[in-house]
Amino acid sequence: MELEPTIGLEVHCQLATRSKLFCRCPADFGGLPNSRTCPVCTAQPGTLPVLNQRALELALAAGHALRCTIRETIKFDRKNYFYPDLPKGYQISQFDQPLCEWGELEFEAEKGRSKVAKIRRIHLEEDAGKALHPDGLACSLVDLNRAGVPLIEIVGMPDLASPSEASAYLQALRRTLRFAGVSECDMEKGSLRCDANVSVRPKGQPELGTKVEVKNINSFRNVERALMFEIARQSEVVARGEKVVQETRSFRDSEGTTVSMRRKEDAHDYRYFPDPDLPLFDVGRARIDAARAALPEGFAARRRRYQGDWGLSEYDARVLTEEPAIAGFFDATVAAGLAPKAAANWIQGEVLAFLGETRGEFEQLRIAPAALHALVRMEEQGELSHQAAKKVLRRMLETGDSAAAAAQALDLVQIRDSGALAGTIDAVLAAEAKIVGDYKGGKETALNALLGRAMKATKGKGDPNLIKQLLLEKLGKPGG
Ligand SMILES: [Zn+2]
Repeated sequence: MELEPTIGLEVHCQLATRSKLFCRCPADFGGLPNSRTCPVCTAQPGTLPVLNQRALELALAAGHALRCTIRETIKFDRKNYFYPDLPKGYQISQFDQPLCEWGELEFEAEKGRSKVAKIRRIHLEEDAGKALHPDGLACSLVDLNRAGVPLIEIVGMPDLASPSEASAYLQALRRTLRFAGVSECDMEKGSLRCDANVSVRPKGQPELGTKVEVKNINSFRNVERALMFEIARQSEVVARGEKVVQETRSFRDSEGTTVSMRRKEDAHDYRYFPDPDLPLFDVGRARIDAARAALPEGFAARRRRYQGDWGLSEYDARVLTEEPAIAGFFDATVAAGLAPKAAANWIQGEVLAFLGETRGEFEQLRIAPAALHALVRMEEQGELSHQAAKKVLRRMLETGDSAAAAAQALDLVQIRDSGALAGTIDAVLAAEAKIVGDYKGGKETALNALLGRAMKATKGKGDPNLIKQLLLEKLGKPGG
């Protein structure tokens, strides 16, 4: 019996707000334990939550970027469960009236084949805190800095047919959210987290098999590892004639396996009910439309524009849309006046190579788009050779100098003043009487030898075309 897997991902993404979802505590990563807390996010009696407007705007941006239907009136519900890092004993989430529903994400399922996966819903919710279990201590510790941090949960339909498709979907989802400005989506910092629902069924069978939820997948590489293990495990269970148990399993990075955490809860186990502290909230048409109007251009649209309007190759368009910061810098460089192809070459060549070597982030780049344009103009106008321009850009990237200042500091500006070069050429001609004689005797290649001597005399900074022209003016035609 041939089995096929079915996969759907549930992705939690931290919204890029300054403060938490229902209070004014900072929402960014880090900080001394419990230093970013207040009576609201530590659940003191008598406190009331107030919805963060920016979080709502970012959730709307996610909904538009994923082509969802957006609800004009939303409701928050309490999801009740007991956990030491959940001070209220419930999480504020959205149950039956989520902000966004029925969207879709187009992604490249494999090289050259795109696929559309459906998004079931996107809802707003708050994060829990973090329980720590230090070695050698007979107790556990709780850090509530993350409690109340705003999240969206993006629930995908089980439309994914393989671990590699799941990975490609997650990459496309991450890029879409990053280009929409919704989130940093940094898996290492936990601002993007992925759980996978996976089941197997006999090929051709319409009903889905029993699903297992895999948690703690903490990197892109592990999405595929966890799913491959879990599909193989379930396939073995079925092959033995046994039934797959509906449960939640945890991925173990070190072994590449999954282990059972708990039998799967159903929605009724959480005793969802409307949060009486947060009445029905009118999102309103105007706010929904404003979020759509403010949505930055997505990566797919940019790729089409770079290839269609600006004539770049597919490869170039991909590299330039790898990160929003790269695409933004590229667009700004073109807006500053540099031709798209030249801008693409410089960014993909020198700039990305520099960041690769220094393990730098594009956001920390020390040059402005206009400075890159100024550098390329110096080359176009003959003030810098191509090799010199590369060295100058390197210095600009290292120091933040302007193109002119970096060229000056490296002493690489070409000498293009014929008056300044004339003296050097006269000295070379006087010192190299034999070569001059050869040239006058008809040996045309002697001119190159003189050009080489003159270039050397200028320490390579003389403009070779200008020197050649001056030599010809002074010497006339060979044999003449
Ligand atoms: Zn707080």
